[in-house]
Amino acid sequence: MTSQQKTVHLPTATMHGTGVSAKALTPVDTGEQIPALGQGTWEMGDSGRTRNAEIAALKAGVDLGMTVIDTAEMYGEGESEKLIAEALKDRRDELFIVSKVYPHNGSESGVKAACERSLKRLQTDRIDLYLLHWRGGEDLEGVIGGFEALKAQGKIRHWGVSNFDTEDMVELFALENGNRCATNQILYNVARRGPEFELLPWMRERNMPAMAYSPVDHARLPKQSVLNDIAKSRGLSATQVALAWVLQQPQVIAIPKAGTIAHVIENAAAREVNLSAEELSLIDTQFKPPKSKRPLEML
Ligand code: NAP
Repeated sequence: MTSQQKTVHLPTATMHGTGVSAKALTPVDTGEQIPALGQGTWEMGDSGRTRNAEIAALKAGVDLGMTVIDTAEMYGEGESEKLIAEALKDRRDELFIVSKVYPHNGSESGVKAACERSLKRLQTDRIDLYLLHWRGGEDLEGVIGGFEALKAQGKIRHWGVSNFDTEDMVELFALENGNRCATNQILYNVARRGPEFELLPWMRERNMPAMAYSPVDHARLPKQSVLNDIAKSRGLSATQVALAWVLQQPQVIAIPKAGTIAHVIENAAAREVNLSAEELSLIDTQFKPPKSKRPLEML
């Protein structure tokens, strides 16, 4: 981990729901910190042609302190989890591994079985953070029950959700142990600022960090923008400015996916970029903060 590295507290509720209303149970910060910049792995492991470069990129990222590794059973139907094992099995203790369960496996027995399969592919005995990938006909109480059982067995260390809008979070927190959710992984970047209106403030009130997925908008940021102007004046790339913007948001973890060492090095350097108030205002003129509630977007 570099000395400049920003970290984010990962809260976990420590109180049980029995006899106390869910609303009264705000998550308690355990003091565990994880780096604010990690690595995504969607589409990694899909092609033999890029496999070696992806393995090298993941290793280089860990060398640079980007030890939060995000994956899912969905990614390449397990191929991403296998690639992570191949790349980083001998460095397990340095890592904070995040994986996700499909909503169609969203029952107490379903999440337990899916977790076992992910552990096997990852060649590890524990997942640090296990998320419900999105809402889709799951039994939410059963999912929480499965997550809590897996936690008690030491097979996962924390659990959370992904693609949950505010009303989903409210529904989750009304369920027993729902407030033990450690994070919500959402689409959030300079071009997708909808969560700033309601969801992110709701989470911050509960000390819950957000994980920003597609932090450089899946490489779809406009080719010409104020990001380029700022980048040019500072000798950076527009991608670095976009990533620095996400990292400058409070309580946000960014998990860019980079398939080459060059991109990994560039992304790691974005941690050292501190955008000025003037630069942030300039960004707001093109990438406007929301003035009203927008439904949460998903990729
Ligand atoms: P992203 O990280 O915003 O963008 C990835 C794209 O940006 C790739 O094409 C990558 O190219 C390129 N890139 C990365 N660094 C770059 C740099 N320095 N310069 C130029 N291009 C660069 O998008 P994402 O992969 O959609 O999101 C990141 C991670 O979030 C995923 O991998 C996944 O782990 C997670 N995710 C979660 C969900 C969910 O529903 N929970 C949904 C989407 C994503 P190269 O590969 O060539 O480096």
